[in-house]
Order: sequence, then C-alpha cells, then structure tokens
Amino acid sequence: MRINCLACGHKVDLDDAYDDYEGPVKCFACRAILEIRTEQGSIKAVKQVNSVLQPSAEEVFERVVNPMNAAARGAGASGPRRTG
Ligand SMILES: [Zn+2]
Repeated sequence: MRINCLACGHKVDLDDAYDDYEGPVKCFACRAILEIRTEQGSIKAVKQVNSVLQPSAEEVFERVVNPMNAAARGAGASGPRRTG
C-alpha cells in the first residue's frame, strides 16, 4: 500500500502491518509526519501533522524532559523581570 506524502508528494511505501492502522507515519523523503488511518488495506484518511520547518519531535521532547537545559540555553543577560 502506498500513500502520497502531503508535503513532498513522495509515495510512501507501507507494508501489510499498516493495513489496519491509525497513527503517524514518517515520510523518509522529506521527514514529514503524516497521520494516517487505514482499514483493510485501504486508506481512509491522511493528514500532515507537522512540517520540516517545525522543530523535530526529538527537540520538543528534550525541552519537555530537560526544562533546566532549555532554560539555561535561553537565559540572557536581562535577568528576571519584576512587575510593579
Ligand atoms: Zn514527504
């Protein structure tokens, strides 16, 4: 079974494991994540859930897991801001 990548038009090959599937698949041509739904080997729905311009899932995951790390990277010389 093949689906057309919505981002780049590449035909993404899916094996039989995806005949009844709902969830993300990755286009290995452009790395876009497509959310698909299939039933009995036919495609019911395809939508793009991110684009290559957005941060990768790994980057987002790292921010969530290591907030201190992200804060350290984002810390500037301005210091904490007080109101009032
Ligand atoms: Zn693609």
